[in-house]
Parts: sequence; C-alpha cells; structure tokens
Amino acid sequence: MAKYQPVIGLEVHVQLLTATKAFCGCANKFGSAPNTNICPVCLGLPGALPVLNARAVEFATLAALALNCTVNEQSIFARKNYFYPDLPKGYQISQYDRPLAEHGWIQVPAADGATKRIGITRVHMEEDAGKSLHEGFADSATRTYLDLNRCGTPLIEIVSEPDLRTPDEAFEYLTRLKEILLYTAVSDCNMEEGSLRCDANVSVMPRGAERFGTKVEVKNVNSFRFIRAALEYEIERQVEVIEEGGRVLQESRLWNADEGRTYSMRSKEQAHDYRYLPEPDLPPLIVSPQLLSETRKKLPELPEARRARMVAEYELSPKDAHTLTATREFADRFEAAARTARNPRRVANVLLSEVGGRLKALGLELDQSPVSMAGIVMAADLLDEGKISSKQMKQLFDIAFEKGEDLPAVYEREKPEQITDASAIETIVDEVIAANPRQVEQYRAGKKTLAGFFVGQAMRASKGQANPALLNELVVKKLEG
Ligand SMILES: [Zn+2]
Repeated sequence: MAKYQPVIGLEVHVQLLTATKAFCGCANKFGSAPNTNICPVCLGLPGALPVLNARAVEFATLAALALNCTVNEQSIFARKNYFYPDLPKGYQISQYDRPLAEHGWIQVPAADGATKRIGITRVHMEEDAGKSLHEGFADSATRTYLDLNRCGTPLIEIVSEPDLRTPDEAFEYLTRLKEILLYTAVSDCNMEEGSLRCDANVSVMPRGAERFGTKVEVKNVNSFRFIRAALEYEIERQVEVIEEGGRVLQESRLWNADEGRTYSMRSKEQAHDYRYLPEPDLPPLIVSPQLLSETRKKLPELPEARRARMVAEYELSPKDAHTLTATREFADRFEAAARTARNPRRVANVLLSEVGGRLKALGLELDQSPVSMAGIVMAADLLDEGKISSKQMKQLFDIAFEKGEDLPAVYEREKPEQITDASAIETIVDEVIAANPRQVEQYRAGKKTLAGFFVGQAMRASKGQANPALLNELVVKKLEG
C-alpha cells in the first residue's frame, strides 16, 4: 500500500429545496403518493415545454458562490440522452460544456493539522429522474414499478478536482460541503431521502508518478461513512490487481454495504454515449451582474468564518466553536440568546459545561436539552450577578435534567439560599485561614494565585451558599490584612 498514491474525485448531486420543480409548477416534495406530482412537462409529453424556475437558479447560484466558484454570466442547458424506464423523456436536461459555475474550492482539515484546499471543477444545474421500485410489491419478482414524482426535481451537481488523496480527506470534504450547503439553506441534504447523493472516482498510481492510474467510478453509496469504507476497499482492490500484474479496468462499480465490497456493474449498463446536444426548448441561462450581486448579498456567514469569529468573540476553543456552529439554526439561536445576556462569554461557558456535558452523557443532541436557551442565559446572568455560586448552578442543572424542567421553573422553586451576611462569611473565611497556615505564608510571600484556593475552601465550607462576590472580597481582605 505504501508504494501507491490514491487519487480521489467526488461528484455530488444535491436536490434544491424549491417549492416547485425545475421546469414546471409541480410540487417538489418528498414522500407524496406515487405519481401525484406530475404533469406533461415533467413527463416529457409531446408538445409540453419547460419553463425554468427562477428560484432554482437563485439557489444554484447561491451554492456556487458559497463554494467560491466563478459564476458564468451565460450557461447552456443540454440534453443528456439515455434510455431508462424512470426517465420518460428519454433525456435529462442538464448542462454540459457551458456549466453555471466553475473554478471553486473549499478548505478541509488535513492530516497534519493544517488545512488543504480542494478544488471544485464545476457546479451545474440539472433535473432529477424518477424512481424505479424493484421491491415492496407482491409481484416484485416479475415487475418493476415506477414513481415519476421525482422527475424534474431541481439538482445541482458539484464536481471536485481529483485533489483528494485519502478516504479520510474525502469524508472531510463531504462533511464540509454538506455543512456549507446547509448553511446556505438551498438543500436539506437528507441522504436517506436522496437529497444528497455521491459518486466517487478513484484510482491509484505509484507514489511520485505524475500520471494518474485508471479510474473506477463507485456508485450507489448512501452515507459518508460508507463512502469512506468503499474508497478504502476500492484502493486496496486496485493495489492488489496491480501487484498481481493485472490492469485496473475503467468501469463503474456498485458498493454493497452488507458485504463491505464493490461489484463491477455489467459493462452494458455503463456503455453510455449521452449524445449531448443544446436543449432547443430553453434559451441560454443568463445570470446578470445585478442578479449575481443580489444573490451574493444573500450569502450567510459561512461555517469556517463564523467559527473563527466566535473563537475570538466568545473566547472559545476551536473545538467548542465547532460544537456551537454544528448547524446554522443552533448557532443563530445561541448568538441571539448570548447577546441578551450580561456576559455573552459566560453563556457559552454555561452551555458547553453544564448542558453539553449532561447531554453527551445522555446521548442527546444540543437541541434536545430540557433547559432552553433562555434558561441558560438566566443561569449565566445569576452567576454573573453573584446571586448563585457555580456549585448552586450545577445543582440547578442537575435538577432540571433529572426532572426534564427548564431552569427558570427550577430556580423559582428551589431558590438556592445564599449567605449574604458579611459577618457570617467572615467567620468562615477566618476558619479557613486558621486551618491553612502554610498556604497563608506562601500567599503572603507573593503567591497571590492561592487566593483561589481559599475561596474554594471557604465556598465548600459554606456548602456553596456564600455570595461569591462578597466571599472573594473578604478572602483577599483577610489575606492582605
Ligand atoms: Zn411537472
């Protein structure tokens, strides 16, 4: 294996979340009764003419910009001809030599901790085909059923450069790509429903070689984990073929997740000659400079940029920033809440330490917390104002999670007691100081960080009930005195 360098490129199909289809007014909806969202246009009946969905263009352009592509002012729709039962027109409207957008890139984390730029060759628009149902009917052994609802669903195809070198890089690329697309909200990227699908091209060459080996296309992979596994399998298979003196055949192979291996598709199925020709029923697609600048304004802050900003703004570690920005919706909710708090950084701390840890232990996601964002802000404010100690806050969160209640309700009921009587706290501090003469000596010799030790001891002695601000003040006063 060490003698060989894998080369990987990915083709990703993404369904756009428009209300209607790419070229007709039929609903673009998953899960409807079979063959109910169809019309003469998406069925390709004689005389029916396609009309391009402006929203689909806007979404495709938005995705292209988010992927750092150059959007072509003029692109051309083309007919990609092939015969398949679930493609009633006998061709798919796609784009060929003049795609919507080209020359993009995204960053992925590399193995050495740095980042690596993966090129995006092109983003083009096309329509989806219908679905052949080979299973689920009493006579499925002898018949195939067709559901044409998906015909005409707007897609973008995102083709990467062959810049990926390991299955892990491919996994990272897909993860980042999906995250960016979700932030732009052009697709739900739901792989189970087929909103995001991926084909991989993979070859191997001797390390140091300049010419790529013969590539194999791996199709039919429906999760990022499986793509990584399929690539790992395929790389090993190709190396084995070469090592045994054979030649890798250029072919399409199917991933079988149950068996953990790829299978060659019969050669007849892959001998495509698509006979591309410009689509005569659609004019060239023009994305004017005005439309482009309007679309650019709709670009949200993208995940990488947002993480970098949040690391600085909330003093987070990159890992914590990653957690808080896992989805745009969650990051929005967090930031909206944090802005209402006395100290936004504290909201991040409380969220990550009190909520994140407990959810992780329960195997729940951040948005499944019994404590709402408003509850987290409340806890952070109470802590900030010194109305509760951090120990009391932990107890409140314990109760909230135990009973599935939000924090304001728990706080109202429990109203943690606080000692605010200075003389009572003074007594406790005096006791702690008397009990730790060695530390007092060290403190007075200049080791000022020991103040924290005394605060901790005194807080424990007060069962977490001492007013934190008052306690801090008295500890320093006594030590200095
Ligand atoms: Zn239709």
